[in-house]
Amino acid sequence: MKQIVEKEKCTGCGVCAAVCPKEAITMKMDKSGFYYPVIDNDVCIECGKCQRSCHCCIKRTKDNVYDKNKYYAVAAKTDKDLMSVSSGGVFFKIAEQFIVNGNIVYGAMQEGVGEVTHVRADSIESVKKLRRSKYLQSKTTDIWKQVQQDLETGKKVLFSGVGCQIAALYAFLGKDYPNLYTCEVICHGVPSYSVFEQYLKETKEGLGKEVREICFRDKRLGWKNNQISMKTDGGKDIVCASGIHPFHKGYLKGYYSRECCANCQYANLERNADIVLADFWKYAGEKLGAYKKKGISLVCCRTDKADELLRKIENQVMQEEVGEEEAIKSCRHLTHTPKQRKRKLFFELYEKSGFFIAQWLCEKPRAVQKLFLHIVENQVYRRAIQKKLARKQIGVSMKIQSKYRKRLEDFVKKYK
Ligand SMILES: Cc1cc2nc3c(=O)[nH]c(=O)nc-3n(C[C@H](O)[C@H](O)[C@H](O)COP(=O)(O)OP(=O)(O)OC[C@H]3O[C@@H](n4cnc5c(N)ncnc54)[C@H](O)[C@@H]3O)c2cc1C
Ligand code: SF4
Ligand code: SF4
Ligand code: SF4
Repeated sequence: MKQIVEKEKCTGCGVCAAVCPKEAITMKMDKSGFYYPVIDNDVCIECGKCQRSCHCCIKRTKDNVYDKNKYYAVAAKTDKDLMSVSSGGVFFKIAEQFIVNGNIVYGAMQEGVGEVTHVRADSIESVKKLRRSKYLQSKTTDIWKQVQQDLETGKKVLFSGVGCQIAALYAFLGKDYPNLYTCEVICHGVPSYSVFEQYLKETKEGLGKEVREICFRDKRLGWKNNQISMKTDGGKDIVCASGIHPFHKGYLKGYYSRECCANCQYANLERNADIVLADFWKYAGEKLGAYKKKGISLVCCRTDKADELLRKIENQVMQEEVGEEEAIKSCRHLTHTPKQRKRKLFFELYEKSGFFIAQWLCEKPRAVQKLFLHIVENQVYRRAIQKKLARKQIGVSMKIQSKYRKRLEDFVKKYK
């Protein structure tokens, strides 16, 4: 087998590696920082199982899907539930129900600063680690067989992930299970691991301190002023608005997102999951008005199973049914694939100048790019500019922090 699917379509799910009877496939990171399957043709027996199980190669039609999706605005009732999640905390409320009833939950867990992996959770403590969006691709290759095993032994399973991961799971299983519930989070694409590592490396050089923790969805200054917070060696807490955070800014523009995300097959109303969750940024109703500062989820129910999940948490959340038009208007990626602006240009600049300079140069005129690329050929100048730009992000964050000092202090007192 030379290739399972074209590289620009592959989502890196690792199902092909999991099903290969000869273990001929290894998931390896390419030079842009994304995992792809690599086939050992000396071992491959050309059985075609990898291709038959790849969600990019097969079309799946789900049983028991409503004619029309149903949409809701939903928020967990308590501040405690809302402050440690990305939007309205629906995922955790549903997951909690699974755990207290002795069932199993799968989802993405952040390990250290820059590793995200899908894991199995069977306790409240372990499911807490799945909360919040992590803007890195979660590794899934080793999880598929575990999910199958739980399902085969009759356990009730909630599997959560982005659209391509839900599709990958169904493709791997090859059939529907009555005891499987799927929960999709809407997705803006996933950024490159190696670009993220380089960002951390240059930040360390600029600050003289290592980033020890990163939280991609911090709500201390409010849900709509979404922030990214980092803790460095020595416990310094840096809180930065997402819109101006250097790594997140480039991610939102799609400079270093995975290639397949530009043509995401799942950015439409025909999704695979039972229930789909997003941020309800443009909620216009009144019933949940009090939650606009703390987080509201947009929930899309597609099956009877989704209704069942929502019914089980109804006493713990505020909810209101909304129309499809309002849902689509609020959530671009419900119907549109993420854009990849200047991806090729970014990687060209990045190879010569590293993260901070490439990110900064991407929006500059061609003449400025050429001039700086010439200057940064000299390693001493390159490192000096990188350091200056790395420190600038902290300077900007500090200004924000001093402006909101009181709110940050109150938050720490209340939720510590
Ligand atoms: C990479 C990514 C991009 C997103 N882009 C958008 C967007 O453009 N617009 C929008 O409205 N919403 C987006 N979301 C979804 C949104 O941020 C919330 O996750 C969603 O609203 C659910 O929030 P919550 O409060 O219910 O749960 P939370 O507790 O915040 O979310 C936890 C859930 O997210 C899953 N998860 C977290 N990180 C990952 C990951 N890296 N890969 C796979 N699953 C993960 C967990 O498994 C769990 O199911 C994105 C999420 C991710 C992970
Ligand atoms: S199964 Fe997943 S990792 Fe393998 S080729 Fe298909 S999309 Fe890529
Ligand atoms: S064709 Fe069969 S043996 Fe070869 S890589 Fe695919 S699954 Fe493995
Ligand atoms: S944008 Fe689509 S293909 Fe890319 S990670 Fe998200 S769900 Fe997968």
